[in-house]
Amino acid sequence: MTRVAIALGSNLGDRLGNLRKALRLLKLKGINITGRSDIFETHPLGPQDQNRFLNACIIIDSLLSPQSLLILLKDIEKQTGRIHREKWGPREIDLDILLYDNDIINENDLTIPHPEFHKRSFVLLPLEQLTPYWIHPVIGITIRDLSEKLQDMDQTMVRIAQL
Ligand code: ADP
Ligand code: MG
Repeated sequence: MTRVAIALGSNLGDRLGNLRKALRLLKLKGINITGRSDIFETHPLGPQDQNRFLNACIIIDSLLSPQSLLILLKDIEKQTGRIHREKWGPREIDLDILLYDNDIINENDLTIPHPEFHKRSFVLLPLEQLTPYWIHPVIGITIRDLSEKLQDMDQTMVRIAQL
């Protein structure tokens, strides 16, 4: 079993429903969800003329390889109604692999740890709720320390519900 951290985000349609649907589909696919964070409402990165996001994180135990997990997540994004749009643009659902055990992966279509997540409060805050002591395998410090180091911690993030 491998411990994996996944980030969920949605800023289109029924945002809460989208997050919960993605979770349901993961479970239907036999994924064992061992932790779920609160859901935070956050301001979008990139183009500002779009809705606020709902963001959350989960921890899973998985037997899938990183590539197989990526394929599964893309499939669930599609089933949750995501259609292809501009990068940084609005999306019904976004499922990103943040950490896969302590693996470091640099492939064309898959980078783990997910690039830049250590600079984003909308990822670090929910992840810190679940695994404060997980050490970022590239940077070498814990999620809690990364979160405390963040200069531009988003003060406007609002915790709205449990996933
Ligand atoms: P964003 O970077 O905003 O999440 P997308 O969700 O559209 O953008 O993802 C674009 C591509 O990023 C995916 O098709 C996927 O192949 C690639 N990708 C690279 N690393 C990861 C990762 N760790 N988790 C999820 N997708 C990843
Ligand atoms: Mg993505």
